[in-house]
Amino acid sequence: MKRIYLDHSATTHVDTRVLEVMLPYFTEKFGNASSLHSFGQEAAEALVSSREQVAAALGAEPHEIIFTSGGTESDNMAIKGAAYMHSSRGRHVITSVIEHPAVLRTCEQLEREGFEVTYIPVDREGILDMKFLEDAIREDTILMSIMHANNEIGTIQPIKEISNLIAGREIVLHTDAVQSVGKMPTDVHELGVDMLSISSHKLYGPKGVGALYLRNGVNLSPLVQGGGHERGLRPGTENIPGIVGFAKAMSIARVQLEKDSTHMQHLRDSMIEKIHSRIPHVKLNGHEKKRLPNNVNMSFRHVEGESLLMLLDMNGVAVSTGSACSSKSQNASHVLTAIDPGVDYIHGSLRFTLGRENTLEEVDLVVDLLEEAVMKLRQISPFEQEV
Ligand SMILES: *Cc1c(COP(=O)(O)O)cnc(C)c1O
Repeated sequence: MKRIYLDHSATTHVDTRVLEVMLPYFTEKFGNASSLHSFGQEAAEALVSSREQVAAALGAEPHEIIFTSGGTESDNMAIKGAAYMHSSRGRHVITSVIEHPAVLRTCEQLEREGFEVTYIPVDREGILDMKFLEDAIREDTILMSIMHANNEIGTIQPIKEISNLIAGREIVLHTDAVQSVGKMPTDVHELGVDMLSISSHKLYGPKGVGALYLRNGVNLSPLVQGGGHERGLRPGTENIPGIVGFAKAMSIARVQLEKDSTHMQHLRDSMIEKIHSRIPHVKLNGHEKKRLPNNVNMSFRHVEGESLLMLLDMNGVAVSTGSACSSKSQNASHVLTAIDPGVDYIHGSLRFTLGRENTLEEVDLVVDLLEEAVMKLRQISPFEQEV
């Protein structure tokens, strides 16, 4: 059976061009970048050029890039690091209700430590309530963390507008751009952010590596103590093979951005249209236009998302319900709860996230299988019999 992967927001395969540049750094070029001999120099040079590549892809300076173990660590480093650094000025933090758990759980931890956090609601389409946000800003607000694009429903938030709104204030602005980097333009100056989180495995790089963009002049309290690596913010011997692969993945994503996003958007729109025309009682979750080019999140009335996922998986199609992080819990995801598609729809949501290598033929086959699976489940749904 041919398998079709439509879960690229959970993770992606490593591009063969990425793997190729990584391999020598496991074997002959294994040096520690802090060593003074030629082995060390080889690793140190790889670190320098990787940092340049990642910075270039974001419109940043190389010294503004801190390599981390991925999105989760970058979010923690940014939020706790800035909160601790500026706690003498104030202890109020602003975020949104639809953030990734890496941000939400971190903010909850800050609350346990005596910080105050305001969670900004979103509208029915998953876009931030800007009036609420404006009113939430206080004299003692030190930090704002708002995601660029949502991992479940793909909505894109007005980061530039937020940055304009707080211009001139001493509020550090962080964005989790794990889902948007590689799928839409993410220039740090264009966005006007002070910090931006990235993860390599969401953009065809290896797992366990990522970065935090930290604007020149913004200071953080380090969360981990050790040697002076990564400006003292992330001590520990650098993961050179991972960093080299991540940098290559960023360069490829930058070069192919236009081509990849156009392709995925075409597949996305075709898939949404076909699902709407073939399956009755379906809702698109998230904003129709302000959404990631690769995200299709739909709710099917009176159907369990998990059952649908299993039926598709039996046919070789990999999708997700809500997000991979919350799929083991019985409750509807916090993101769907926030946009509230209605009681008949909330448990029947599926997330299809396209990749640069998916084809229109694959999308057509998935819609065929999906139609069949939804009909099958509705036949046995007690709720469906009542209407
Ligand atoms: C995947 C993801 C993360 C976590 O990144 P890891 O590298 O897996 O730790 C954080 N934020 C968002 C929006 C994500 O999609």
